[in-house]
Amino acid sequence: MAKVYNWQLGREMDYRLEEAHPDRQFAAVFNINRCIACQTCTMACKSTWTFSRGQEYMWWNNVESKPYGGYPHHWDVKLLEMLEKANPGGQKWDSSQRGDRSPYGTYNGQTIFEAAAATGDENAIGYLPTEEEWTGPNLYEDTPKGPAGVPGVYHTDGAQLPEHNTWFFYLQRICNHCTYPGCVSACPRNAIYKRPEDGIVLIDQERCRGYRKCVEQCPYKKAMYRPTTRVSEKCVGCYPRVEGSDPLTNGVPMETRCVATCVGKIRLQGLVKIENGDWAEDRFNPLYYLIRQERVALPLYPQFGTEPNIYYIPPRWVPRPYLRQMFGPGVDDAIERYTNPSRELLAVLQLFRTTQTIIFRYEIEDGELVSETEINGRTWQMYNDTIIGFDRDDNEVVRVSVDEGIIERGQQYQNSI
Ligand code: SF4
Ligand code: SF4
Repeated sequence: MAKVYNWQLGREMDYRLEEAHPDRQFAAVFNINRCIACQTCTMACKSTWTFSRGQEYMWWNNVESKPYGGYPHHWDVKLLEMLEKANPGGQKWDSSQRGDRSPYGTYNGQTIFEAAAATGDENAIGYLPTEEEWTGPNLYEDTPKGPAGVPGVYHTDGAQLPEHNTWFFYLQRICNHCTYPGCVSACPRNAIYKRPEDGIVLIDQERCRGYRKCVEQCPYKKAMYRPTTRVSEKCVGCYPRVEGSDPLTNGVPMETRCVATCVGKIRLQGLVKIENGDWAEDRFNPLYYLIRQERVALPLYPQFGTEPNIYYIPPRWVPRPYLRQMFGPGVDDAIERYTNPSRELLAVLQLFRTTQTIIFRYEIEDGELVSETEINGRTWQMYNDTIIGFDRDDNEVVRVSVDEGIIERGQQYQNSI
């Protein structure tokens, strides 16, 4: 095992391969608070990449209802249990010392790679889901969690923010194009690789022999086996769009299909600069700002240790212990910042789903004060600032203001549908 630095854990960790990093890293922010589970993202992905024979149960993008749902069924509960068994009570963080290279503090427990040594597994703990577990990508859809911990049994006395007694939420999932992918380190054929230009993780269909070690050792279960070709497949990060080679893109990097089609406007995807093995400071890249500067978006199960690159703005109404287990110790700060957003954060949040072109940089023009209110006992002011996004070549691709303006339908149109 080599020693690699994982900034999400705030420490070095064991990994089978030597540390290596791309020039830029594919990354995205998903705002859970806004998702309506319309599954447009899911169908956009399916109709682009997985509509053929042998791919019937293959959903590279899925949206599952938490806490009971999962695709494959109970994937995260199973992984958390395996981690707990290998290292009882060990999934603990020390958040007292936070810094630029350790924004959430330090994870003192074992990752899936480190736990493997204790269990005698080769590289990482993991399991192969059964065929039945791959069916029903949103089993338990809209099923709330109530007091008894039984699906469908819920509180009858109402619910209030900041946290609800009865709750569920949607979790949007694609491959995380991890910095230290479990799938890459698992493959005995070295058939899986991480692209040096954008960090997208791909399976070489010629080299793969269908051993399914990637399916077993991806903790997020985003590598999938195709019985008709007898090799494994996974999300390809819509790489022709991201590299700007798809004819639609006019030569500049464009967001993936699942991101570009999002009806709820919850998704923003981009490419972040990497230098010396870490994110280079890129203050006005919207992803850098949301994840490293404002820290309002967090990685999914960072304790697994793969350094996943899809980040989530956590839902406000869900009990915090559940969220801390899922997104780490940054949850409370992230929810506070989202609930009571700074002037800059409010402007950056407007960029979600305004253009399909990847935004590499933004600028903000100050606007006038439009409203004032109180949030959590503090005065909060809203300004009608304008945010401008620029593509890779520094051309303006979007300009949007905070205050959307209301258009009133005239009386003459009242019954005109
Ligand atoms: S398209 Fe957007 S809003 Fe609809 S399910 Fe997907 S992530 Fe949620
Ligand atoms: S999410 Fe899974 S399939 Fe995707 S890069 Fe990470 S380990 Fe590999």
